[in-house]
Amino acid sequence: MGWKLSGRLPAAGYERESPIRTGLAGKCPRCGRGSLFAGFLDIAEDCNVCRLDLSQQNSGDAGPFFLVMIIGVVIVGLALVVEMNFSPPVWLHMVVWMPSSLILSLALLRPAKGIMIALQYRHRVQFESDNDQL
Ligand SMILES: [Zn+2]
Repeated sequence: MGWKLSGRLPAAGYERESPIRTGLAGKCPRCGRGSLFAGFLDIAEDCNVCRLDLSQQNSGDAGPFFLVMIIGVVIVGLALVVEMNFSPPVWLHMVVWMPSSLILSLALLRPAKGIMIALQYRHRVQFESDNDQL
């Protein structure tokens, strides 16, 4: 099964919005002004400004996956640097790094989901079945 990415031209009457900027701000990927979210992580049915249908948008686990990878590398790296330089007791590592991981994950979950939705809007993924070539 093959797939390809194609850039989407901006819809008529709209500027091309940055997926990073709109995703971080939790704004609509088309107009950049309406809200993308209807709750902490719930995607709105549609944009409250341009009426872009958002009901079918689903970023799956991509946002949390990238967060786990990035936060894991940062937290483990910091813990290793602190251990090598100060050798604090294990309980201090637990008290510092476990809440830090949790807080960072919760703080970045919504922006990560917003970026993934905005990237999905910008780059439509089209699946091509291998059966087409048979
Ligand atoms: Zn919009």
